[in-house]
Amino acid sequence: MSMPDPQTRLLFTDLLGLSHGKTVPSTRAQHPTHYALTVMLQGLDREFIELKGYSTDVGFPDMEARLDEASLRPSWSGGEVAMTNLHFSDGRPLPLCVRSRLREMIERWRARDLEPLCGIEMEFYLLSGQCVADGPLSVPWHRVYGTGPGADPSGLIDEIAAACERAGIGMEGINSEFNPGQVETAVSYREALDAADAAFLFRELAREVALGKGLGATFMARPFNDSVGNGMHLNVSAAAPDGSNAFVDTDDAQGISQVCRWAIAGLLEHHAALTALFAPTVNSYKRLRPGMLAGYWATWGLDNRLTSVRVPGQRGQGTRIEHRTPDGSASPHLALLGMLAAALDGIERELPLADPVFGDAEAHPGTDVHTASSLGQALDLLEQDSVLTEALGPDLTTVFVKLKRDEVDRWEQSLTDWEVNTYGRVY
Ligand code: GLU
Ligand code: MG
Repeated sequence: MSMPDPQTRLLFTDLLGLSHGKTVPSTRAQHPTHYALTVMLQGLDREFIELKGYSTDVGFPDMEARLDEASLRPSWSGGEVAMTNLHFSDGRPLPLCVRSRLREMIERWRARDLEPLCGIEMEFYLLSGQCVADGPLSVPWHRVYGTGPGADPSGLIDEIAAACERAGIGMEGINSEFNPGQVETAVSYREALDAADAAFLFRELAREVALGKGLGATFMARPFNDSVGNGMHLNVSAAAPDGSNAFVDTDDAQGISQVCRWAIAGLLEHHAALTALFAPTVNSYKRLRPGMLAGYWATWGLDNRLTSVRVPGQRGQGTRIEHRTPDGSASPHLALLGMLAAALDGIERELPLADPVFGDAEAHPGTDVHTASSLGQALDLLEQDSVLTEALGPDLTTVFVKLKRDEVDRWEQSLTDWEVNTYGRVY
């Protein structure tokens, strides 16, 4: 019996961080004509939105999804999987390609002799059916930092770990998190673009492996009223040309360099404006509140999980900045783009950094600056921040904001269970 021809999944990310693409025979993976309509970039689960320059007014032109060979890896589901970059069919880069925008931001760091490195921690819930409405997986022996059948009687966690191994995702570890059914994993430290790709692929992989067992997995920011939310913490440092960690200064009392301080100051300066990229759904604001360890206040601290920008305790090569505000519904590419843009602004402007906050930084943040309170407000703040809008570029800013304002409008017009249950009894 002859073996079936190997297949390659060529993927791209839309503005929501969802995957699209084509599966092609591996022999054709390099072929330039893997077209899709540009309008798909909005995200296919969304209602159609008219976008000037990208939809009906230009006749839905083709775009090309071009293989990035460096991203080619074995797929968890057999064959291979790779990321693509998006171009108009005349070869011009597509301004809505979030992966390309992130690459350009990385080039700006490289121009300053800094190679941004990143590790991404991802939280998610295993579900007892295929949808969030089915509830979290029932875990009779639940404990935080659990492993094995006690943490997950379905065996799904171990299958996800094995699938990561097959695909070379480079997962650092996996364990149960605070609430039953919640899981945490970390995509290991590496060059920033590869880290965003790995986080994006990990979400696909986890959902698909769960589906294979008739179960589900959700990275939604706050899927359950009575359980904590799902964070997606971004850990960032930068390598100097000699490979040393540019965020380290062994002569400094806190062990961190001036570049690291400027970067933190940039993150705090843009804290509120970053909200839309870190918390991009109306649901995100059910997580992003004080007291949720979710990175609400514009604070930084030394190994303090109650601050938004945490410098974990490791020193030497492990010295890094952890941003705790992004949630599991954020696009890893857009969130990392925002973080790198804000940090770079701090470095370029040599922004001064206030002292870290110690102790209960949620109760006593020492600042009244915090993330936006709603997606609508977050979009206003994003639009007003020229550093972030320049990093996104005008087309991506316009389309992202339009897409998300449409989401806010539909949410505001939608009746919720809470309203029916609360008002329905008394009025
Ligand atoms: N679940 C928390 C969040 O929503 C993070 C908890 C932690 O790992 O520190 O971000
Ligand atoms: Mg966690």
